Amino acid sequence: SDHRLTYPASPALMDWSSHYPAFVAPDTQSVAKDHAVVKPLTKPVTVADIGCGFGGLLVALSPLLPDELILGLEIRTQVTEYVEDRISALRSQYADRSPRLYQNISCLRANTMKFLPNFFTRGQLSHIFLCFPDPHFKARKHKARIVSGTLCAEYAYVLRPGGCVYTITDVEELGEWMRSRFEAFGNSGVGGEDEGGETGEGRTEGMFETIELPEEGKEGEWVDEGGQKGLVAMLVRCIREETEEGKKVTRNGGKRFVSVFRRREDPAWP
Ligand code: SAM
Repeated sequence: SDHRLTYPASPALMDWSSHYPAFVAPDTQSVAKDHAVVKPLTKPVTVADIGCGFGGLLVALSPLLPDELILGLEIRTQVTEYVEDRISALRSQYADRSPRLYQNISCLRANTMKFLPNFFTRGQLSHIFLCFPDPHFKARKHKARIVSGTLCAEYAYVLRPGGCVYTITDVEELGEWMRSRFEAFGNSGVGGEDEGGETGEGRTEGMFETIELPEEGKEGEWVDEGGQKGLVAMLVRCIREETEEGKKVTRNGGKRFVSVFRRREDPAWP
């Protein structure tokens, strides 16, 4: 449970150096902040895989996003340890042939429903992945779902304008739930089932824009509009095919429901 989770009081107090040793800034001293000693990195973490499970997506993303630092967050201790061992083995295996490969991925034990803003500052992330979240089918368990109005506010906070949230599930009803929460968030004209509906007076556009996606298998043919769509298509293919759960769906011949939401600019306040 949460009392054994460790998390920084604020993102500035998080020491990432053991997670990304290849990215520790050279010639800098450790900085002591509020009793914490932090060794700065050359760049911030910009990609989060929330509920990363056994880390299949992290491993696939490493060579696809070589310039980004990618973090998996997972609540189960043993699963987190498994992913840490998996990454450390891959780093050793590729140390001679491709020494940068897998240095940009890491995994951390965290309850992302509670502590996301402890790890990331406002607008820090470019991509957030919510892949095959636990469905919590019963109505009284819906509050355990990792997409809700409150959590949309946290995702909007840590995501930079223009950054994207990628969702995938094999449960159609959960796919619709996630879509309705993201589309309603920040849109005063539409109310979600929970508290997510309202911010900003008179705002009829939500904080997230739903992106139209290519058909499954046609991601490669998708026309690149100004750069980002090609990237989105590549990442959509990746969550369909490289997550452990996505692979299971392929084996069973099941369906996958994917949505991508782009964070809009902050509204201009009068
Ligand atoms: N994303 C992986 C995939 O697509 O193969 C794993 C999906 S698995 C069904 C859901 C994962 O989310 C589990 O590993 C679970 O432990 C983790 N999880 C659930 N709630 C969480 C939370 N609040 N914080 C972090 N991880 C969580």
